[in-house]
Amino acid sequence: MKDKKNLTTEINPEIRDILIEMGAEDIYKCYQCGKCTSACPWFQVEIYDYPVFKFSLETALGAVASSEDKKELDKEIELIYRCVGCEACLEQCPHGISTPNILRAARRLLVDFDSYPETLKSIVQKTHNVGNPFGEHRENRADWAKGLNVPDFQQGIEYLYFPCCLPAYETRNQKVAQATVGILQKCEVSFGILGVKETCCGEVIRRIGAENIFEEVTKANIKEFKDSGVKKVLVTSPHCFTTFKNEYPDFGADFEVLHTTQYFSHLIDTGKLKLNKSFDKKVVYHDPCTLGRKNNIYEEPRNILKNIPGLEFLEVENFNRNLSLCCGAGSGGLWLEWEKDERIVNVRLKQLMDTGADIIAVACPYCLQMFEETLKSMDVDIIVMDISEIIFECL
Ligand code: SF4
Ligand code: SF4
Repeated sequence: MKDKKNLTTEINPEIRDILIEMGAEDIYKCYQCGKCTSACPWFQVEIYDYPVFKFSLETALGAVASSEDKKELDKEIELIYRCVGCEACLEQCPHGISTPNILRAARRLLVDFDSYPETLKSIVQKTHNVGNPFGEHRENRADWAKGLNVPDFQQGIEYLYFPCCLPAYETRNQKVAQATVGILQKCEVSFGILGVKETCCGEVIRRIGAENIFEEVTKANIKEFKDSGVKKVLVTSPHCFTTFKNEYPDFGADFEVLHTTQYFSHLIDTGKLKLNKSFDKKVVYHDPCTLGRKNNIYEEPRNILKNIPGLEFLEVENFNRNLSLCCGAGSGGLWLEWEKDERIVNVRLKQLMDTGADIIAVACPYCLQMFEETLKSMDVDIIVMDISEIIFECL
């Protein structure tokens, strides 16, 4: 790699070349049509102007994080870290340009220079030190499963259930892992957990730009899975799903990955999961970007909800499936604070609440956390549930 010292030069071919090497190879395909900007969730936050169309051009000029003025430089870094990696821009770009990859290349450079938000530095450090972004003790990782009679994974067990760091440690999300276990036990599925041997999948670390730490946790997980004889992994989080399925194979992983909505939809279709109790509520489904746009899993969550007796299924008009709006938690967004009237989550919650639903159904721990935390400060009568929790109530 070339010398990177000249980070503050205004137009810099060396920086451009480094960014291309780090993943921004799409930049020359851009013809500045601007469709990405209007597809971006920040466009819906009307008070905030987010110039997505400029990122390719600025990268081509090597003019990324290029200001000599500290305040201006901080603003540039803030812009780079506003992206929540939702891929709505990629979905609409006529040339299939991945702006989140271009921005991730910029992030990798900023991480190399230790010039990125302090909150995110802490996430990276904690994951490096103790295997999760919250800095929680590794020995407490399986506390959520206490009293549930969940076996440790060993040879001969069919599925490894990998709950993700949020359901492992965060009180509200632990209920999702517990409901998932309840469903699996009811259906007599052969499964176990790795518990204290589990390490964060590393998805958020990679999106932040800390590629070296990502590679470290990835290799540790793959080794643990291989040593334990894991062949099939069942995950609660779309973030673990996309990382295990689409990114771990580059590092030698060869296990099958299923999201819980895929598996539970299959169990319903084959008659193994019976939903006996009525759930007399109006439910709107929020498509998580990482499950939907990134992995094309749109129908399975809907199939589950539409099979629940008594449930009235609702959609957000115009903003569902591949046009769904991000909750704002991806790519480190869960940990970043924006002004109250500059938040994607508020726009998405309004869309969901306008449907008249009693319940927002999600299939991602990040969406659950983001919505619940925001709703706490709002005087509204709507609750958020993971699809696994709804199923569990109907057993
Ligand atoms: S939509 Fe694609 S081609 Fe158009 S400005 Fe955005 S990145 Fe460039
Ligand atoms: S990935 Fe999402 S947040 Fe990032 S630039 Fe594209 S549309 Fe905007």
